[in-house]
Amino acid sequence: EHGPAVVGRFAPTPSGPLHFGSLLAALASWLDVRARNGRWLLRIEDIDPPRCPPGASDTILRQLDAFGLYHDGAIEYQRHRDSDYQMALDTLVARGTAYPCSCSRKEWQRFRVYPGWCRQGPLHPERECAWRLRTDLGEPEVCWQDRRLGHQRWSLPELGDVVLKRRDGLWAYQLAVVVDDARQGVTEIVRGADLLDNTPWQIRLQQVLGYPTPEYLHLPLVVAANGQKLSKQNLAPALPLQPDAVRLLLHEALTLLGQSPPAALRQAHVNDQLKAALEDWQPHNLSIRDVQRTTSN
Ligand code: GLU
Repeated sequence: EHGPAVVGRFAPTPSGPLHFGSLLAALASWLDVRARNGRWLLRIEDIDPPRCPPGASDTILRQLDAFGLYHDGAIEYQRHRDSDYQMALDTLVARGTAYPCSCSRKEWQRFRVYPGWCRQGPLHPERECAWRLRTDLGEPEVCWQDRRLGHQRWSLPELGDVVLKRRDGLWAYQLAVVVDDARQGVTEIVRGADLLDNTPWQIRLQQVLGYPTPEYLHLPLVVAANGQKLSKQNLAPALPLQPDAVRLLLHEALTLLGQSPPAALRQAHVNDQLKAALEDWQPHNLSIRDVQRTTSN
């Protein structure tokens, strides 16, 4: 194929094992780039070590392997990319778009978003500072065409001056994800709609840093059979490793992605299920609304 290189990625936070919601994100993004002979990268977003129990990333790798979702190239780990993030922050500071903030959440939490008190300089310079993005400069709106949800138009000042580096020195997801996606040449971002309201900040960061903006596809959220949103909080179960259970779950995941996997493949080897799904990948069949599971494992 001679078209432009298609590069997708799966970027789990190893705060625990993958659950069904993560399977949808991994599977959809894998199908979306593999169907176009693209590359699929795996990036472990372990910038917040206290939240990442030892062994969780190994479990994630074993789970992806069990589902046949192989990746290209070396796995990247965010904990090794400190200097990339620092360079990006330095650029933002040089462009007047990031500033040190000495306020504690307690001081401003009566407001819906941080009111920007430190934009002209930290109010309490003697304290440790976090770094925030200025959302009061430039075009207030961020627009993009989401591949499932259509035209998106978000007001950045209403989202507020997001933290880029925490007061405790840890990098924030917003900055790290933008820097890594650009460095790795990611062109297609397919992820859960729970991240939709993060995208405006990420696109603004791309604009200020001079990075290209990838295509975005935010997937339907999965609602458990009992009607509750799946999350680690309500203990969405870890994806299994046993082949029989894996096969059934893969079939269910394809169905919830709006695809029509043949019933005859329900117990088929994951590679056969994936091969059929690739040949018939129809991203426009994704549901516009949340999707509900029918089983509870
Ligand atoms: N690490 C994020 C998460 O697991 C996902 C990042 C992304 O896909 O942009 O929720």
